Amino acid sequence: MKIALIAHDGKKNEMVALAAEFSPFLQRCQLMATGTTGGRLQRECGLRVECLLSGPHGGDLQIGARLAVGEVDAVVFLRDPMTPQPHEPDINALVRACDVHNIPCATNRAGAYLLLRQLSLAA
Ligand code: PGA
Repeated sequence: MKIALIAHDGKKNEMVALAAEFSPFLQRCQLMATGTTGGRLQRECGLRVECLLSGPHGGDLQIGARLAVGEVDAVVFLRDPMTPQPHEPDINALVRACDVHNIPCATNRAGAYLLLRQLSLAA
């Protein structure tokens, strides 16, 4: 299972908590993340994560490109709806790529919990 993990700054603590909760499952997955999110998951959760570029530097687009060629099975993208992001077009492109390719994408904590729970039960 290849999972992409992305969290905006205001949501990174939530991502770390979520990843810690699902750590036994995530340890068995192939993980990729935008740079800063991935660094925190490595340091604070001890997960093996391929860190791509930071989101504002193109990390979301890298994940979208991989997804488009079948290299991502699910996306957890904890977006911060209260803070304007400089790379809004990239964010929209990634969510659109998920819709185009029918890849499950959770954009808030509740959805992410359900997605990871279901994937972990199915694994
Ligand atoms: P970051 O990128 O993990 O490098 O902070 C996330 C984003 O802003 O899309």
